[in-house]
Amino acid sequence: MSDVILDIKNLKKSFGHNEVLKDIHMTVASGEVISIIGSSGSGKSTLLRSINLLETPTSGEILYKGENVLEKGYDLNKYRTHLGMVFQSFNLFNNLNVIDNVIVAQTTVLKRDRDEAKKIALDNLTAVGMERFASAKPAQLSGGQKQRVAIARALSMNPDVLLFDEPTSALDPEMVGEVLKTMKELAGSGLTMVIVTHEMAFAREVSDRVIFMDKGVVAESGTPEEIFVTPKEERTKEFLTRFL
Ligand code: ADP
Ligand code: MG
Repeated sequence: MSDVILDIKNLKKSFGHNEVLKDIHMTVASGEVISIIGSSGSGKSTLLRSINLLETPTSGEILYKGENVLEKGYDLNKYRTHLGMVFQSFNLFNNLNVIDNVIVAQTTVLKRDRDEAKKIALDNLTAVGMERFASAKPAQLSGGQKQRVAIARALSMNPDVLLFDEPTSALDPEMVGEVLKTMKELAGSGLTMVIVTHEMAFAREVSDRVIFMDKGVVAESGTPEEIFVTPKEERTKEFLTRFL
């Protein structure tokens, strides 16, 4: 657990005059499962998007294996390949079938040959229980199935860290369980995961550490026990009463 992959220091992000991330410190160690909870608008998505540089931080440092990726000259495209992202809205290519969705970034970004990429895709579709749908089009799938394909696609890039931004928030209630089950299996497999979620029971069960964000700061962080059972901060307690 002491093998730090990401070390985020003094991270700030503003949109115009709106300082959305105020001074974020956070580390992600190999094999860790971290959940980020907090009210809508507290900056959770902006934090994930800043970590993978979908947003450019205003200031601060993101150390990836000890090197600051925000320094001039750092190979950002390479850095991005080490982080996977699963979005609320799946972001599958609707014109491609399932397996091609899982293959395409492997061949274009990682330059794997198609046979190797296909084998890896099938392995990961099997891992999420979607191998039977390899030749289906996304439109033929339920939301939960689409999200499992999106997870297989992200896994196929062999990320060091997989980031999830509310992966079950767009799903019908009856689809939430299958996606959480898949994520729980991944957590158990040793994958390093950072998960923004409103699924408090899930966060409590699978996380090594929980981060509570409020108005652009990490208001409190700790073990699931510390955050959910014995929270110290008044605003953590107040937030949790709305969920528990
Ligand atoms: P959360 O994911 O916790 O709901 P967000 O990170 O999406 O919060 O948003 C935090 C704040 O940042 C909100 O006030 C939102 O309006 C603002 N924000 C997010 N993205 C942008 C953007 N691209 N441009 C301007 N403001 C943004
Ligand atoms: Mg969000």
